[in-house]
Amino acid sequence: MPLRAKTRTRRIRIAVTLLSGLLPVILGTAILYIQAGRALEQNAQQTAEEAIRQFDLMLDNTAQAARELLPMAGQSCTDVKLALREQVTRRPFVRSTNLIWDDAIYCSSLFGDYHEKLAAGDFSQGRLLLMKGNPVTPDTALLVYRLGKGKQGAMSTLDGYHLSNVLRLIGRQTLLVLQVGPNWLSADGQFHEDAPPAMPTAQSNLGSSRYGFSVTAGFPKGETWRYMRSQYPPLFSLLIFFGVISGSLGHFLQKRTSSPTHEMQRALDAAEFVPYFQAVVHGDSKKLSGIEVLMRWNHPKEGLVRPDLFIPFAEHSGLIVPMTRSLMQQTATLLAPLSASFKEPFHIGINITASHCQDLDLVKDCREFLDAFAPGSVHLVLELTERELIEPTAITHQLFDQLRDLGVKIAIDDFGTGHSSLGYLRQFNVDYLKIDQSFVAMIGIDTLSSHILDSIIELAIKLGLAMVAEGVETQQQSDYLTAHNVNFLQGYLYGRPMPGVEFISALSDH
Ligand code: C2E
Ligand code: CA
Ligand code: CA
Repeated sequence: MPLRAKTRTRRIRIAVTLLSGLLPVILGTAILYIQAGRALEQNAQQTAEEAIRQFDLMLDNTAQAARELLPMAGQSCTDVKLALREQVTRRPFVRSTNLIWDDAIYCSSLFGDYHEKLAAGDFSQGRLLLMKGNPVTPDTALLVYRLGKGKQGAMSTLDGYHLSNVLRLIGRQTLLVLQVGPNWLSADGQFHEDAPPAMPTAQSNLGSSRYGFSVTAGFPKGETWRYMRSQYPPLFSLLIFFGVISGSLGHFLQKRTSSPTHEMQRALDAAEFVPYFQAVVHGDSKKLSGIEVLMRWNHPKEGLVRPDLFIPFAEHSGLIVPMTRSLMQQTATLLAPLSASFKEPFHIGINITASHCQDLDLVKDCREFLDAFAPGSVHLVLELTERELIEPTAITHQLFDQLRDLGVKIAIDDFGTGHSSLGYLRQFNVDYLKIDQSFVAMIGIDTLSSHILDSIIELAIKLGLAMVAEGVETQQQSDYLTAHNVNFLQGYLYGRPMPGVEFISALSDH
């Protein structure tokens, strides 16, 4: 596999691991964020309700003072001055009281006789006015409550100090302001005439049902995160714990599902699949006619691994195609320098699985293989095992036609152990039958198997197909097969499979 594809799979694996680790943390954090938002909204709402309750209570005192003084409006200030002062002393929160006649203050608890015109329209709902201060304490805000009946009027004031105290104490963690008409008071006791600020987080706005004021509660920007940091540390630890568990699980599952394939991919990249060559000789002269290429896994820890242990995995994962391609390239590199010395076409058998025949890539691989040799110096023989038959489709027909045009030969491997029919042999234009070694092993031992062997040989001769006998180990087997006109022989009697490089040096020595 190209390096780029390899890093890509690794990146995908890392991304999946990270994602499975981060997902619970992200989802959990999102849920906690929503939860924290709700808690803050509830908090702001409760704070606003509490503030309204407190202000209502304070205004009740102020209103009571005004109610008691109202019938005295119109009487001379000297007569009622003491009554005005009594209310200031007796009523909690009341700072001053005044009497009004015809929209003008004429008597004050502070100054006695006094004159100041009033603008009744300035009062919220005709009753309440938030002011910056009065002539005595111009910088301390005050809330004025006014009661009127005809020309009579009474006014009592509430000290801004008490109001800002409530704002500060109730809204300890909350931003809280008191609004009366267009004016508002902040917790630091400052009077403001401009529009009140919008609260960035969890704003709650509530009006008093009894007096003409409202309060706004809320939190500064980023309060949700601050709240989460201070309230949820155990939950955060739990989320991180779940994240680690889920990430490890994701990593483990990926590793488990991909590990044989992954290991084989690694081996392919590390060029651990190497070709072994086994000699194939002519039946009559016993001279070398070619080789069969057999794959070995040169595993760094396990040593040399037999193909039947890993080929099924390679087929399952689809890696058999690039593995065979690599084997063909290595074989061509080893044998091509000798090709000029071949006196007759040298047979090179390569084992091919059915899955390799599903597209036309095989044609390209064979063409590249043959191009490495001197023209006509080799016969490439593709060995297809009879145990897995190739389904004839439009693609396979095209494939085998193109292979034939290239001069590639087809051998049916392990012949006699599968179910290939005559039609099948014709369909794929088979050139060789490789007689399975189980029949060869029975020569001189089991008469029934020998009969089957005889029938196979007879059939091949009738069909005009050349034969290769596998697993020839004894002279008796060799003699029998030669006597029965088997064209090629392969087995330990003539040579065991050996590393390609060793085979080449042995060949060059001869
Ligand atoms: P096969 O294609 O039938 O290969 C012949 C097997 O018989 C080889 O086993 C070979 O070492 C063994 N053999 C050769 N002469 C003798 C003998 O005289 N006596 C005995 N007892 N055995 C002998 P190997 O190399 O272990 O391969 C086993 C199978 O693995 C092969 O059977 C073939 O089906 C598969 N294989 C090997 N290389 C490849 C490959 O590159 N691609 C594919 N798709 N399959 C391969
Ligand atoms: Ca074979
Ligand atoms: Ca075989």
